[in-house]
Amino acid sequence: MNQLLELIRKKSAAQVLREFAELQKLSWPLAATNYEGLKTVKEKQFQFDGFQVKVQFNPERMRSSAAKVDKQSIAERKCFLCIDNRPAEQDAIAFGNQFLILVNPFPIFNTHFTISCNSHIDQRFIPNVRSLLELARAMEGFTVFYNGPECGASAPDHLHFQAGENGFMPIGDEFDRLKSSARKLFSGSTADVWAFDNYLRKMISVETNSMEVALKIIGIYYTHFQAMQPEKMEPMMNALCTFSGGKWTIHLFPRKLHRPRQFFAEGNDQLLISPASVDFGGVFITPRKVDFDKITIKDIEDIYNQVSLNPDAFQELTEKIRQDLNRILI
Ligand SMILES: [Zn+2]
Repeated sequence: MNQLLELIRKKSAAQVLREFAELQKLSWPLAATNYEGLKTVKEKQFQFDGFQVKVQFNPERMRSSAAKVDKQSIAERKCFLCIDNRPAEQDAIAFGNQFLILVNPFPIFNTHFTISCNSHIDQRFIPNVRSLLELARAMEGFTVFYNGPECGASAPDHLHFQAGENGFMPIGDEFDRLKSSARKLFSGSTADVWAFDNYLRKMISVETNSMEVALKIIGIYYTHFQAMQPEKMEPMMNALCTFSGGKWTIHLFPRKLHRPRQFFAEGNDQLLISPASVDFGGVFITPRKVDFDKITIKDIEDIYNQVSLNPDAFQELTEKIRQDLNRILI
């Protein structure tokens, strides 16, 4: 099996990864059909003050949005990320000894990968965040993201990340534009950290050129957030990570709820939306046409509001992070 880090010595990561995805479409009918289907997927957008949220109608994402992730359902199904259960047509590019880069056969992005751990171990953030940063650096041109076990991961029992091309989620451009008006938590020679209070979802963003500094900042965030949700297996969160021009950009989304009230409602009140990293990046995924048609700007505000940390809790968390960062990272 090819190693990504060897392949990108000769070509750019974006080129290697796009070619790999194209080859999979030639040899794997399911992938071919679903990527072809993506070309006609419906999209619309809502404009907010200074930013936008897109909505994508994508029926193939039903299995992910409506995935049963309770302990019993997980125990009763075959894990679709374990090597024995993966489709025979699904090839891989290795990333070190621990991860395999796989083409996601149910795409949201034009080039969409699942990066699966070689072993069946639980989905956890902190023990694997270095891998997330390494992947983002190797996969320049792509956003690598993490969905927590109670925050949209459809295999909470099997460690994995996903990745899609930069430029698809509105957050990419918006961050550069909006960061000057965000609340600054830290500014130093190796890193900047911001809190976003007015972006519908609550977001902490880090820019740094140092892996070790990134790990330190994320560690501080995690420790304080974990103390606020002691009953959880890990604090509820999603994360997006990109690497460009020698610098990582990491967006952390602390949450308080897995699925909004509308997900469980019946009849006309139901909206089958299960927010995960892509939704936090500014693209709501609706697997049902009826939801795509009826969703309103108010629903989007309401759903972000329900699943994100409350303003008070976010203020408390970010103030603790601010104090630590300014004490530790000078
Ligand atoms: Zn597994």
